[in-house]
Amino acid sequence: MAKTTHIAVIPSPGFSHLVPIIEFSKRLIHLHPDFQVHCIIPSLGSPSSTSISYLQTLPSNINPIFLPPVPHNNMPQENNNHTGFQIQRTVTLSLPHIREELESLMSSRSNNKLAALIVDVFAMEVLDIASELNILSHVYCPLSAMTLSLYFYIPKLGEIVSCDFRDLQDPIEIPGCVPVHGRDLPDSLQDRSSEVYKQFLGRSRRIGFADGVLVNSFTELEAQTIKALEEEAKEKQKKPRIYPVGPILHSGSAGDENRTGCVNWLNKQQPRSVLYVSFGSGGTLSQEQLNELAFGLELSGERFLWVVRPPSNNPSAAYLDNSNEQNPLDFLPEGFLERTKEKGFVIPSWAPQIQILSHSSTGGFLSHCGWNSVLESVQKGVPLMAWPLFAEQRINAVLLTDGMKVALRPKGDESGIVGREEIAELVKSLMKGEEGKEIRKRMSVLRNASADALKEDGSSTETLLQLALQWKNLGGEI
Ligand code: UDP
Repeated sequence: MAKTTHIAVIPSPGFSHLVPIIEFSKRLIHLHPDFQVHCIIPSLGSPSSTSISYLQTLPSNINPIFLPPVPHNNMPQENNNHTGFQIQRTVTLSLPHIREELESLMSSRSNNKLAALIVDVFAMEVLDIASELNILSHVYCPLSAMTLSLYFYIPKLGEIVSCDFRDLQDPIEIPGCVPVHGRDLPDSLQDRSSEVYKQFLGRSRRIGFADGVLVNSFTELEAQTIKALEEEAKEKQKKPRIYPVGPILHSGSAGDENRTGCVNWLNKQQPRSVLYVSFGSGGTLSQEQLNELAFGLELSGERFLWVVRPPSNNPSAAYLDNSNEQNPLDFLPEGFLERTKEKGFVIPSWAPQIQILSHSSTGGFLSHCGWNSVLESVQKGVPLMAWPLFAEQRINAVLLTDGMKVALRPKGDESGIVGREEIAELVKSLMKGEEGKEIRKRMSVLRNASADALKEDGSSTETLLQLALQWKNLGGEI
């Protein structure tokens, strides 16, 4: 009988932190079926219905282990608005249960060894337990290599700069990366006296102790950055090795599209004529911004497919708590739906994104620049309009606009609102203008490169093979 290698993976709470590490696990067992993955799942409140239905489709060699949910009222009030804080805090409060599960996996007769532990970036506190239990530990970074570089660079930047990074005049030069203004760094780095800044520094210190970091990017997409990371790892013996294994994405669930009817609508549109508008699994606009976007789309005269959420002044309002039952369509400007019914299709809260991006009628994507959405757009070759909201999305927007040059980014006014005229201009430019054409060409090159990275002899497949062999050789076999 073939020997089985056991590994454990630990996502952090939230659909888009669960999916990447599970999709990584699926890819691993697809290429190397002699692996068994134990997925230990912390959650804030009960896992969302989207997460539950996603987990119901797992193959038998991925074993989900649900931890007791952390109640929402265990979150300190003062940082209740900060998604990253809540995610990491949930993991901290779940640590005793995680330890129990790991010990139980280690001691059960059939799993006398775990070959490796792989944790999400927000679950890095588990690395301390891994080290005590003597398990090889890796971090799965579902982010760009540029954001990963920031993790390594931030302690150094903190030493050379005394002010808040957002007050720096010149852009920051992270090794191997496109320069980025301090104001475009993640929210958690904006105020150096804050608790979330301290949390970021803690993660950044911890990542240095991992045995390796798997990053959901690929050599051809972020060549300079990955090279700089690899060189640094070689120079400093203690730095973890970097493994670009992406793009690893979920394939979308069949049948989803019938619920909204949007694919039927796309079937009736001209090739590449529709702008898809979505702010990810939880991105939320203020009422004022929602109005401007609605009028901007209308003014552009272009076709659009828009996933609308009820407004909030907290841009990540729906990220961990999608219990808002208000009808998002009630918040659209009066008469908007009627006036745009020939040109637009509006979906409340959630859309089958992969199917939409794969559809030949989709010609552009106005995105909040979550890294999964970015990779999905790259994989399908869809030009982007970059509209970052929170977390590390502004860094992704800089990478897409200044680095890869595959996106247009609105500037907005002093108060951060993007006005209808600017929206309309950019949408037209992306969908019909010369700039849009150039962007499309560059996106096609990236799309081909992303397909190549996943071929049998592709860069990311080779990297995963190295890892799998390492884990098999190190133990966990029965
Ligand atoms: N997604 C989707 N339908 C939606 C919104 C999001 O299928 O209406 C999926 C999307 O395809 C992506 C993930 O949810 O895989 C969002 O991840 P991303 O990193 O882009 O953003 P986040 O949700 O973390 O802000």
